[in-house]
Amino acid sequence: ELAYLNGHYLPKNEAQISPMDRGFLFGDGIYEVIPCHNRKPIALQRHIDRLQRNLSAIGIKAGHDDSHWAGIIRTLAQESPTEHCGVYLHISRGTAAKRHHTYSDGLSPTQFAYSFQIPAPPSSANRPSMGLKLKSQEDLRWLHCDVKVTALLGNVLHYQYAVDEGFDEALLYRPSGKITEASASNVFCVKNGVIFTPALDNTLLPGITRGLVIDVLRDHSKITVLEQDLGLQDFLDADEVWLSSSTRELAPVTQIDERVIGNGEIGPMWARVIDLFQRHKYEYA
Ligand code: PLP
Repeated sequence: ELAYLNGHYLPKNEAQISPMDRGFLFGDGIYEVIPCHNRKPIALQRHIDRLQRNLSAIGIKAGHDDSHWAGIIRTLAQESPTEHCGVYLHISRGTAAKRHHTYSDGLSPTQFAYSFQIPAPPSSANRPSMGLKLKSQEDLRWLHCDVKVTALLGNVLHYQYAVDEGFDEALLYRPSGKITEASASNVFCVKNGVIFTPALDNTLLPGITRGLVIDVLRDHSKITVLEQDLGLQDFLDADEVWLSSSTRELAPVTQIDERVIGNGEIGPMWARVIDLFQRHKYEYA
């Protein structure tokens, strides 16, 4: 399995970094996951734009233009043993001689990437056999969830608690009642033919898939999509609920806590939207 580390391609199991890397010591870094189908990255420029934004957000000066990142992503997708893969790209602040919270400008950021297999894209013809079950939890993460940082312990624990209780993912809400996202996905719900998703702010990730779903619907359908604040009750009372992420695309949900969503079946709007998404997802840079 091929990986990329600091300017070189090498077998993944030969890639090594120092334990003094701030990514290891502090989770001081950012990452991206770019989905590639038939070895072609989806919405590549949007992923690179978000990567560059996240580097600036935490003050890492990697000193590379978009074509550097695009080259790594395209190479790993081309060389992937599977035609459907995700490229994981991780940039930490680098390795310092001493462990100290604050950092100086002189560090050389560590760049690491590799590809991994993802499922074939879902569609109305290739639908999951079952919907997912979500466990609602108060969102205990920090207040910069809009930045895709590698310090994911909050997300890890939310996801683990959900799975330990027999659920597939967590559905997170702030003390205000606002639903933010799931621990590794954005969320949508459908009521009376209208699609809703939480409005973007600092408490959730601006998912690339979320944005693509919204753009495909606005450009290629007359279905209304609204970005607004939503509470747990909106999701419990919805006709359909979905998760979105680069690796899952759109995944239907049929249970939240003990409550069955809609009639408990994967819904007709999911089938319609996933087919629109598959038809048009390559059109967006
Ligand atoms: N929210 C969180 C917390 C995530 O980790 C992810 C990514 O997997 C998403 C949302 C979805 O983002 P994207 O569609 O860019 O993969």
